[in-house]
Amino acid sequence: MRRLRRTPLIRELVREVTVSKSDLIQPLFVEEGLSKNAPISSMPGQTRFLLSSLEKEASDLKDRGVRSILLFGIPSRKDDDGSSAHDPEGIVQRSIETLKEQLGDEIVIGTDVCLCQYTSHGHCGVVRDGLVENDETLKRLAETAVSHAKAGADLVAPSAMIDGQVTAIREALDDNGFRDTGTLICSETLILILRTVSGGSLLQAPVRRPANLPDGLLQPGNGHA
Ligand SMILES: [Zn+2]
Repeated sequence: MRRLRRTPLIRELVREVTVSKSDLIQPLFVEEGLSKNAPISSMPGQTRFLLSSLEKEASDLKDRGVRSILLFGIPSRKDDDGSSAHDPEGIVQRSIETLKEQLGDEIVIGTDVCLCQYTSHGHCGVVRDGLVENDETLKRLAETAVSHAKAGADLVAPSAMIDGQVTAIREALDDNGFRDTGTLICSETLILILRTVSGGSLLQAPVRRPANLPDGLLQPGNGHA
């Protein structure tokens, strides 16, 4: 193997993985009720966008070769059950519709599917008697994913750290006629970082313990540990 690493040209010759702009997905944060776009101080160069600014940003990205985005919504209305997450008039749903109307299939639109930025308590799901209610939360997440698909999302990205979420969302999409809408499995850690630093969530999610190897090996959100 050492011989294959000897010079830059040889290394390039035998390289198996290449990353191009078309492999990248740009997270875009869209916030309801902003008066103007707001820089995210903890993520230099990143911005919380008004819905009206989103199309220009997505177009600029497309022109620079980044043709996939992942939308994170920050709603103006939060309640105990995170109901604005699956509102057909919600910030993410309206953003998808606007982008699809203006850019069609020139970009791939993925959406973060989670409740914690939509709940008044900041937990990643429906809370009953002080605990996150897993099955009720699955229903909400499934409704949210279907509402994103209805608005035109190409991919939905479950990230709620709720056991069984991927299966629940996939089944709901299929049952509602969205067999072609993809599910994008995100790293929980990545999503946690993005959501925390963007200021969209209080982050009181039941985070997996990195010291437990089986937790880390389970497909995020689809485990039954
Ligand atoms: Zn969450």
